[in-house]
Amino acid sequence: MTTSPENGTPLGVLAAAYESTLDCVHCGLCLTACPTYRETGRETSSPRGRIYLMRGVAEGRIPLGETIVEEAALCLGCRACETACPAGVPYGALLEETRAAVADADLRTGIAARIERSALADLVPHPRRLHWAVNLLAGAQRLGLDRLVRPLMPQRLREMHALLPQIPPSSERGRLPAFTPAEGPTRGRVAVFEGCIMPEMFGRVNAATVRVLAASGFDVVVPQGQGCCGALQAHSGDATTARALASRNVAAFDPADVDAIVVNSAGCGAAMREADHVLPGEADDFARKVRDVSEVLAEAGLPRDLGRVEGTVCYDDPCHLIHAQGVSLPPRALLEAIPGLTLVAHDDPGGCCGAAGIYNLTQPEMSARILARKMDALSAVAPDFIASGNPGCLMQLSTGVAVHGLQAEVVHPVELIDRAIAARSAN
Ligand code: SF4
Ligand code: SF4
Repeated sequence: MTTSPENGTPLGVLAAAYESTLDCVHCGLCLTACPTYRETGRETSSPRGRIYLMRGVAEGRIPLGETIVEEAALCLGCRACETACPAGVPYGALLEETRAAVADADLRTGIAARIERSALADLVPHPRRLHWAVNLLAGAQRLGLDRLVRPLMPQRLREMHALLPQIPPSSERGRLPAFTPAEGPTRGRVAVFEGCIMPEMFGRVNAATVRVLAASGFDVVVPQGQGCCGALQAHSGDATTARALASRNVAAFDPADVDAIVVNSAGCGAAMREADHVLPGEADDFARKVRDVSEVLAEAGLPRDLGRVEGTVCYDDPCHLIHAQGVSLPPRALLEAIPGLTLVAHDDPGGCCGAAGIYNLTQPEMSARILARKMDALSAVAPDFIASGNPGCLMQLSTGVAVHGLQAEVVHPVELIDRAIAARSAN
């Protein structure tokens, strides 16, 4: 039996997380970085409070019950607290451990939790099933059937339906070619990660990623057999599915064959960079090669003869890029390199937008409050473009723009680079 190194108390659930909870020195420096603390002002909804709850559960002083189930669900997993923490508490890992314990004990009930569990285990990891499900939804949206049956849905399902984005046309939902050669002299070879949601909702971003990499001198391969990264499953407490999905990608990519495994979705990149935590001893080379597309392009340099893209752009940091991967300067440097485009700062670039995977579906009220704060900061600047490198953030910011009446276009940074490349001949 594992016991507390401090007082010899036998440890129960969360025993594996216990030692890291002791790293917290209760300084409170993380509190103002935490979106849920900023909204509620409640200690239990802060990183320090949640770590205290985790420690209490491990020591058997606090039951694995309602309070911790609610707080684990209310936490966005944004990891802003990790960036703020001087003691290096690995909060993201603690949260995943806690959510796995909650899932193992089957403590999350209700229709939203059931839909989440089933979608993440039986739909998202299966590209063909996901494709047909999105086809069905696209057909229903086209014919207005979804709006027709909406009044018959239970209230919670109606709320979730209201947040569903418009499915892009089928011409934008293709898979990527297996190989795209570099334009001009070759400076390297990279493998691109396609993702699960990206081909269905942001095929245009995937296609732009390949075009920009090729125009920047990279041979681009897209390994077959790759699939969902497992991030959403890990965040929801389904460690078994997350491990299986990480394993599939480790088998699909050959790190020795490429200079980098390029990811354009911050949440996926963070999970893939940490694949060696999920698969100890099996994924070290894979994890070392994972890079965000902005890092690869900023290091290589963009083509010199970029065309103009006129306007102002606000860059909004995806949490899993700035806090989980420590990447904040490369996307800004790339946007600044585009002729005609002016990068303007807003007041809350590193604050979560409230997307956090499927948090906007599972915690709609808190998500909307957090999004409102973000939109206030963006409204004050009123940019022509809002750029962010994560599908969840792109969808959430698009909702924010529509609901709060901004005139900005929400884009991935590679889309603006792609437009500047396409505009070359106009120079
Ligand atoms: S992950 Fe984000 S929401 Fe959760 S405790 Fe840390 S800062 Fe707060
Ligand atoms: S900043 Fe780190 S050490 Fe300080 S209270 Fe937050 S988690 Fe604990």
